[in-house]
Amino acid sequence: PVAYALDDTIAAIATPVGEGGIGIVRISGPEALAILRRLFRPARPRPFESHRLMYGHIVDPHTGDVVDEVMAVYMRAPHTYTRQDVVEIHGHGGMAPLRAVLSLVLSAGARLAEPGEMTLRAFLNGRIDLAQAEAVLDVVRARTEAGLQAALRQLGGHLSDDIRHARQMLLDVLAHLTALIDFPEDDVPPQDIAPDLERVAAHLERLIATADRGMLLREGVRVAIVGRPNVGKSSLLNRLLRHDRAIVTDIPGTTRDVLEETLNVRGIPVVVVDTAGIRQTQDVVEAIGVERSRAAIAQADLVLLVLDASQPLTDEDHAIAAEVEGRPAIVVLNKTDLPRRLFPDNVPFLPAAPRVELSAQQGEGLDRLEETIFEQVTGGHVMPLHGALVTNPRHKAALQRALDHVRAAQSTYAAGLPADFITIDLHSAVNALGEITGETATEDLLDTIFSRFCIGK
Ligand code: GDP
Ligand code: ZN
Repeated sequence: PVAYALDDTIAAIATPVGEGGIGIVRISGPEALAILRRLFRPARPRPFESHRLMYGHIVDPHTGDVVDEVMAVYMRAPHTYTRQDVVEIHGHGGMAPLRAVLSLVLSAGARLAEPGEMTLRAFLNGRIDLAQAEAVLDVVRARTEAGLQAALRQLGGHLSDDIRHARQMLLDVLAHLTALIDFPEDDVPPQDIAPDLERVAAHLERLIATADRGMLLREGVRVAIVGRPNVGKSSLLNRLLRHDRAIVTDIPGTTRDVLEETLNVRGIPVVVVDTAGIRQTQDVVEAIGVERSRAAIAQADLVLLVLDASQPLTDEDHAIAAEVEGRPAIVVLNKTDLPRRLFPDNVPFLPAAPRVELSAQQGEGLDRLEETIFEQVTGGHVMPLHGALVTNPRHKAALQRALDHVRAAQSTYAAGLPADFITIDLHSAVNALGEITGETATEDLLDTIFSRFCIGK
């Protein structure tokens, strides 16, 4: 669970695990500077100045051993990531020196930060709201440029501004209704709240309408490539990736493990899964692959069924098509560079699936396939990338709840019921919106969100 104390000092390695040019240990809290003083020996002694890098060494105070050569910076609150005093020690990137520095920091009085705790502090101290905190995670994990842009827009507060605007409109209506409840009718100027409620509802609907595209940008889609052995699944995946990762051979049945790669199809992260050919087999290893293919079809948002256009359809093709039946799919006729035995009109199954003809080997028809993938996953709707964009299912669900309550308030008002009937729904709508930005988030919700972060963020 997430810790809510702000008065202790936390520390963590803030850079990715593994070898890198530099690695950073970040310390946040009231003791940050005192801890740095205990461990850091500057090359040229001078007083610490806020936000100024100093060159020197981290020295074990008990043994006097030099642990790493570093640049250290002390940043005085509140102009820091967490709005607390922050110290960063920039050392050599390897795991061993970083761990050594961190363990000295911990023995000098800091506590190891929990995942997301630095960002949680930024949130609790009011530097960012909850939607922006979540955007930090999305920026780190963005898989395409467009996904990154969407996350950066959320981090910049576009969504938060829109949510707050809607919330404020509702609070204004609530203020009016509360006055009606608390004071005699004659003392409150008459006001028709119907237009205000409709404005909020329309605003929320506009935001919700961005969610389908926004969530695609953030979460991407899963595409499974299936087909009997040797039709060219791995070749197709390779072509799509434009580099060689999948193993291509002439021996049927060599793609035994399910292979995953992420493509960027017009800004949408597309996770492609190449599966072993689905077929009846005695081979245990391949049987596992077949099971995985079935699972891959079940988990996929879209299935590419690959056929060999240089051969007539086989029973295996029919059997695999039967597994795909009922799933969103594209039928790919591969090997069009060879003499043709199979044309789109000869394919009797998956009548609703578009047919794409291509040659994975020659690299022909790939654009058409990517276009078809894009059309299938977006329904062809390209949304302009400006203004607030809802990218997070949690936000969409909260917006939908808020909208439902506003709609309920509208009908209550239209029915002429007393003001306090309407305020119940409006309070619920305000709370739902507050869950997005964090004003009304419960500790459970915060736990859920911040526990998804990595340590050091
Ligand atoms: P998989 O078993 O479905 O993954 O098929 P592979 O990608 O391993 O390809 C099987 C064989 O078909 C290999 O020899 C490929 O070079 C060949 N192949 C794949 N695509 C094409 C194509 O478009 N045209 C031709 N002529 N051969 C292809
Ligand atoms: Zn293969």
